[in-house]
Amino acid sequence: MASELSPSMTTPTPVPEAATGAPAYKPRYIDIGINLADPIFRGKHHGTQRHPDDLSAVVSRAQEVGCTKLIVTGSDFTSSREALEIAKQYPGTVYTTAGIHPCSSAIFSSANKHEDTDGHTMPCDPDPSAPIPVDHEPDHEKTQKIIADLRQLIENAHAQSGDGPGSLVAFGEFGLDYDRLHYCSRKIQLHSFAAQLDLVLSLKPQLPLFLHSRAAHADFVALLKEKFGDKLERLERGGVVHSFTGTAEEMRELMDLGLYIGTNGCSFKTAENCAVVQEIHLDRLMLETDGPWCEVRPSHEGWRLLVEQMKKEQQQQQQQLPLSESTTPGTSTPSSSAAATADSATPSANGSGAATPNGQKPSQQQQSQRKGKKPQKKEPEIPERWKTVKKEKWVEGAMIKGRNEPCMIERVSKIVAAIKGVSEEEVCEAAWKNTVQVFGLDESA
Ligand SMILES: [Zn+2]
Repeated sequence: MASELSPSMTTPTPVPEAATGAPAYKPRYIDIGINLADPIFRGKHHGTQRHPDDLSAVVSRAQEVGCTKLIVTGSDFTSSREALEIAKQYPGTVYTTAGIHPCSSAIFSSANKHEDTDGHTMPCDPDPSAPIPVDHEPDHEKTQKIIADLRQLIENAHAQSGDGPGSLVAFGEFGLDYDRLHYCSRKIQLHSFAAQLDLVLSLKPQLPLFLHSRAAHADFVALLKEKFGDKLERLERGGVVHSFTGTAEEMRELMDLGLYIGTNGCSFKTAENCAVVQEIHLDRLMLETDGPWCEVRPSHEGWRLLVEQMKKEQQQQQQQLPLSESTTPGTSTPSSSAAATADSATPSANGSGAATPNGQKPSQQQQSQRKGKKPQKKEPEIPERWKTVKKEKWVEGAMIKGRNEPCMIERVSKIVAAIKGVSEEEVCEAAWKNTVQVFGLDESA
């Protein structure tokens, strides 16, 4: 960890002893959807190198919060290959998927060359201003070549893993996204999804599916049933519909089909979204960040729940602490986001000289920012474990504003726990068990 960072931000999370003397639960997470192959994790933002490659720091931060396994999303040829390269560097930690995302599926059309998006993943949020392009026809020659190349990629990955299960654990990400038809028309998306489902059916053994479905539920389910049967009886290894933002009815239909539901920041945007999450059965739940996208934002309903949840945790922890510690602010080590107080980060922190959530005096820079012309910015309501800076201000060991990363998965699990009214342990352990089972991950590694 970098020396620039204050020790309070880098001290490993203390595991508080409960009043009974039993050690508190230490969460463990698997981020099932993390786009680590995106060049943004190498410091490249929109094609420009803004800071040094900090992928290893991203993985370290994940491990530090207990996110010890990462399933890196492949969403086109470039990212699927790059994900496999990353997996080689982190055996037992990084696993991968391989497939063509609906928004990268224009390569199946007569209008496009057989090329792809250069590893840049697509943002989760739709861009309503972007125009919908003319509908080109699917190109069958290109399709054959793409499917043959995908098959080769999967066979090569399996050949390299020898007898072991290998790092390629799922087919995808693929599916339908009707919120973003400007990247690829509905007709081509359906063609791409169908062609890749046929490929999965022909694989021996099949791979579990890593699916994307946005504003396309009816077509999505219809195509799955057409290929795998009305109860998906020909789907051998199951699958997860990641980044779920649909209705409760749609979610129940997916669970009835035996599929799992992946939740991330996009799943908690509104109260309606959160009501859907409440209905996800724990034995169907998986957790993800979908970094660099889909962070939990202050405008989201999930943020409000997270603030409440952390206040609650803090009160519980204070009740468990000896009196001398709980009444002497600043003597404990509030390095854990859970341990730091949410109260200390309320708007009172706007006053000059107020402590940051980490219990430190604000830096000169922070103070001068407060005196600037811009509207006064609140201290983060949710304490940050690591210093977070704009990409232009990158320093070693810092996180980048707006670049979601796997260590933030603890926020996802806390919000799911708050929504469902269960403990974080129940959420984490259920998601861990589901994920290990579906993707056949090696728990001992
Ligand atoms: Zn997706």
